[in-house]
Amino acid sequence: MKYKILCRVYDLLFDELGPQCWWPAETAFEVIVGAMLTQQTKWANVEKAINGLKEHGLIEVPVLAEADIELLENLVKCCGFYRQKASRLKEVAGFFAEQGMETVFSMPVEDLRKTMLSLKGIGNETADSIVLYAAEKPKFVIDAYTTRMMKCIGIEGNYMQLQRMFEAELPKDVGIYKEYHALIVEYSKAYCGRNRCNECILKGIE
Ligand code: SF4
Repeated sequence: MKYKILCRVYDLLFDELGPQCWWPAETAFEVIVGAMLTQQTKWANVEKAINGLKEHGLIEVPVLAEADIELLENLVKCCGFYRQKASRLKEVAGFFAEQGMETVFSMPVEDLRKTMLSLKGIGNETADSIVLYAAEKPKFVIDAYTTRMMKCIGIEGNYMQLQRMFEAELPKDVGIYKEYHALIVEYSKAYCGRNRCNECILKGIE
């Protein structure tokens, strides 16, 4: 079966790069903030914004929900689309403040995913990053790196098709899902983004 290839890709990436231990955040809410800020920008910009938010004590659900919007806009300016991102962060913080993060995260995985998708500014990739890395529930994250890598090994599909393929082949394991996504991102940055296709360890895999 074609999908068995995904386990072999994981092994190759893991052997090449070793454990990644993602997501780089101190709390579940920091994961949510990072997942929202990283849309359309580099992680270095997100780190800068998160450091600023931390200095102002804003990586706390109730504090961020009540934060001054102008201060928030200034702090996330480095991430682009700052007005939109600031107001969406506030809205999402407001949602968690009202519902309680523990209550929200206790939902079954598909219900949680749907709930995240119902919030403004949260699409598939952000919702799944929150489900996997903040709530620690098994939902595979697909991103542009994953789509490109899969195309290179002959697997094509839209977001949901690729997600289904990964989830059908891999054991339903949060640790493996987290590690696999991190490995794809780190490999893509080190190889695909630097045009090192001639050294690609996935060459010829089938
Ligand atoms: S290094 Fe090149 S061939 Fe290998 S996965 Fe990345 S883009 Fe594809």
